[in-house]
Amino acid sequence: MQSEALRNRVIETARSMLRLGLTVGTGGNVSVRCPSCNKFLITPSSLPYETLMPEDIVIVDLLDGTYEGCHAPSIEFHLHRNVYVARPDVSAIVHAHPPIASALAVAHKPLPLIIDACTFAFKDEVKVAEYGKPGSLELAENTVRALGDNTAVLLANHGILCVGDRLEEALERCEVLDKAALTYILSLIAGTPVCLKPLSD
Ligand code: 13P
Ligand code: ZN
Repeated sequence: MQSEALRNRVIETARSMLRLGLTVGTGGNVSVRCPSCNKFLITPSSLPYETLMPEDIVIVDLLDGTYEGCHAPSIEFHLHRNVYVARPDVSAIVHAHPPIASALAVAHKPLPLIIDACTFAFKDEVKVAEYGKPGSLELAENTVRALGDNTAVLLANHGILCVGDRLEEALERCEVLDKAALTYILSLIAGTPVCLKPLSD
């Protein structure tokens, strides 16, 4: 069995995602790259996070997408796999359905770098990936394209995906994205938002 500690961290992250209001029910999914092999660990599909046990976590091969475990992996395993393949720098992924950032995803409106927290969390404005059905290869391909070398992406009419070196980092970016989305929407009501430049500029 892949390190029980790593499996437990995936479960803890999924529970935190739920507790923070970044999703409801069994929505969203969490994965982490295995440090010692070409595989990743991912939450199983449609199982309640509160009762997940380490053995419920599924292991997916990055080379061919085959998986081992006692449950089916998240239907978004293509999404996670394609991101890991395209981005060797990424070690953890959180896909969530937070209500406010999802409003931007519904409006197909990118989130510019509007506050300092955004410039620390994201490389550039957070783009919107074109719509693809949940679990589809099309969604995975559209997401990788819109993510580029950034750390977050909005998924049209669906939710968000954030990446990081560690699970905590990917999860915190989800929180920043949802909070910043609220600030952005309020600033549009208050006047004309003034945006910041990426830190790399
Ligand atoms: P899973 O329960 O299969 O991970 O699906 C949840 C989800 O968010 C699909 O986009
Ligand atoms: Zn989803």
